[in-house]
This record gives sequence, structure tokens and C-alpha cells, in this order.
Amino acid sequence: MIDIYSKALQQTIQVDRIINQIKGKASGPTLIFFAGIHGNEPAGVFALQEVLATMQEQKSLLKGTVIGITGNMKALSNGIRYVDTDLNRMWTSNGVMKNVSIQHYAEKEEQQELMEQLSKVIKENSGPFYFFDLHTTSGTTPPFITINDTILNRKFALQFQTPVILGIEEFLTGPLLSYINEWGYVSLGYESGQHDELDAIDHHKQFIIKALQLTGLTDSPKTKSNAPTDNFYEITYRYHIQSGDQFSMCNGFRNFQFITKGQHLASHNGDWVDAREDGVIFMPLYQQQGNDGFFLIRKIPLFFLKLSRLIREARLDNWLTYLPGINWKDNHKTTIQVNEKIARFFASDFLHLMGYRVKHREGHYLVATKRENRIAGKAYKYEPWVKNS
Ligand SMILES: [Zn+2]
Repeated sequence: MIDIYSKALQQTIQVDRIINQIKGKASGPTLIFFAGIHGNEPAGVFALQEVLATMQEQKSLLKGTVIGITGNMKALSNGIRYVDTDLNRMWTSNGVMKNVSIQHYAEKEEQQELMEQLSKVIKENSGPFYFFDLHTTSGTTPPFITINDTILNRKFALQFQTPVILGIEEFLTGPLLSYINEWGYVSLGYESGQHDELDAIDHHKQFIIKALQLTGLTDSPKTKSNAPTDNFYEITYRYHIQSGDQFSMCNGFRNFQFITKGQHLASHNGDWVDAREDGVIFMPLYQQQGNDGFFLIRKIPLFFLKLSRLIREARLDNWLTYLPGINWKDNHKTTIQVNEKIARFFASDFLHLMGYRVKHREGHYLVATKRENRIAGKAYKYEPWVKNS
């Protein structure tokens, strides 16, 4: 048990690793919500505790299972983002296994416990599984969703009628959801607002309730609404800062605000950081801890969204290796390597369109992995929202 304080509510609550776990009257999907992976983001923990307690009292869960899991407990009880290292940047195959250099970090223990809970949840419950990671931001923002760019994630994210940011995993190393997503499960990140605003808690509550309705775990109100189809953005740029750097954003940037080329955005070790091009600013850093100064994003035209869906559903990428300079790197045909001479003509945009995530350079090759996991995807075939997209 730890004490967690909310500045927004001026209230302290006590939680365990499992905030709550509720089973419905019948079998069905399992929804897993993580909150407080960043310890200075208690809003999700408060929202989960309240919504799940109400559901338990009213016995309103029709089927399936819902579980709320606390993230970085040591950091949460101290009200800081992390103790030794960011718990949401450790979920690489190396980081999960046995990275000796971080064995003594407080977060290594947190990760180990979360891994144990994860395998327990998957072993003890039935699918399909849905994973959600609840966050808040240092600057003010309207709510938004982040996903690894799979067609399944897109279809589900679309139902929330909230802006969706695609492909963030290419810019961040080791976020929890990318790790889970590689197993093929639907997984959404949700950023509900500024860390200490009341709205951030309310938006989290609404998001949890909506997720339960969409998956049929609770009754949904009969409202007619058309999901917007042009609310997808992709990240085009990340401004990286090193720990120990002097970085400070100029005051007053809101998330999704338009910026113009040459505009002062921040100061970094005494120099101005100016916008390299016109664009939309995303997640400007207004706190001490963190390595992402800001991102730039752009809206994805509907045409490209539809085209990439067609290409992936027709599995056209299977033909990629017939092109010169492109080979499969593994026997499962999930990773390709593109010769750098060819890679110049193969803009990462094209690889994204084909459903690949550009990972890194290896010698003379660009390495990219398939994002779609068709076998795992089959589990969602009869879900209510699939018909709806
Ligand atoms: Zn966060």
C-alpha cells in the first residue's frame, strides 16, 4: 500500500499494485488499465479507483474482466516522475531481460513486479485483451490518444472521437505499450490533460467508461454519433535533450498549437531553439524531468489512411522483397532490411504506408519491422466496434 496525493483534489488515497479487479456476470474480454507509470501523473490512479469502485458497488459489469494496475509506486508516493530512470522507457527486449547496468535502479524492481502481474493477468483471464496506459502532460492540452500504428489500433482508437497520434514508438525507446503491442494486443495510450488539473481526472474517467462500453463490458447509451475520420496525426520530429541540459520552453505553448518557421520555441544550453518549418507543436516540456523537449506533428490526409489500410489488408508488403536491395532479415518474415542505396528512394513514409516501423540502421542497411500481427488480430474479429469501423 502506498499513499498518493492529488493536487487537483487536495486528497490522499491509498492503493496497492492492483487498484481493483472486477469480474462481470459472464465471460468476455479483459481490459487492463495502467496508471501512474510516471509518478507525477496521479490523475489516472484516482480516476480508476473511483470508476471501478462505483462499478463494483452497482454491479454494472455485464461480462469480462477489468483490472486497474498502479505503475511506478515509489515515484507516485513521492510525487515525482521517476526515482532513478523513466519506467516508460525500459520496455526494450534488453531492458526487460537482464540489463545489468540498471539492476539496482528502483524502477527495475517496479518493472519486475509489473511483468509478473502482466503474465498473471494473461494466464488467468480470457481474451481478447485490451491494454490502456493513462497519462497526463506537463503543459495544457486537450485529450489525445497515442498508438503504435496497426490497423487494429487505428480502428479501435477511432471510436473515441479524440485526436490520435500515430507511430510515437519510432521516436521513443521502450514505452510499455510498444512492448505489449508487439504481442499483437490492442493497446492505447491516453493523455487526458495537464498533470494537476481536475479536468485530467474527469477525462480519464470518461475514457475508462467509454472503453468499457465499446468493448461491451457495460451497457452503452443509445446515442447517434459518427466517428470523425480525419483526426490522425503523425510525428515528424522530436527535439531531444540530454539529462543535465538547461532546457526551457518559451511560455504559453499549447499542445496542437500552430507554429511558424523561425519562431522561438525554447532555449537550450543558452541558445535559442527556433522552428525549422511551419507546423504543429506537440507535447512541449514544461517540467524538470524528461528527455523530449517537444515534438512536431502533421495531420495525415484521409487518402493516405485509406490507402495504407488497403495496402496492409491486401498484404502487398509481401512483394517488397522482390525489389532489389530489400531482403527478409528473419525467418518469420516480420523484419526487412533495405540496402542504404535503395533506402534513399524508400522514404520512411513509404515504409509506414506498407505497415513497417523503421527501427534503426545496421551497417549499410535500414532495418524495419512489420507492425501488423495477423494471428493475434484474429481474436478481435467478433468485437462490437470492428463492425463499426
Ligand atoms: Zn506520462
